[in-house]
Amino acid sequence: MQKTAMKKLEKKLTEQKTKLENQLNSFAVKSEIVENDWNAKMPSFDQGGGSLEDEADEVEEFGMRLALEGTMESELKKIDAALQKIKKGKYGLCEKCGKPIAQGRLDVYPQAEFCAKCQV
Ligand SMILES: [Zn+2]
Repeated sequence: MQKTAMKKLEKKLTEQKTKLENQLNSFAVKSEIVENDWNAKMPSFDQGGGSLEDEADEVEEFGMRLALEGTMESELKKIDAALQKIKKGKYGLCEKCGKPIAQGRLDVYPQAEFCAKCQV
């Protein structure tokens, strides 16, 4: 891959990483022990009320946060892995077959781990 193309994707990945971290920060707490591990915060709607209905809403909201946190966290890990690969000069190679991933695919999804053929 051309150096300029790689630099562009590196910038894109770094921007996405910052964006994801900011979003995660808004509803989750970053673990100080495990790298790239976040824990969704329990929402608290009950301002004086505390009815059963409020509690049900909280549980539902917490469930949504957990799901979102999981998705964003795994995305963040992929981005980090891609950035590491750029540093090591191994970026753009399929993790399964080792062949280069198409440039067009990386332009759309720079943290792709597999080529189109290997991606199920
Ligand atoms: Zn492959």
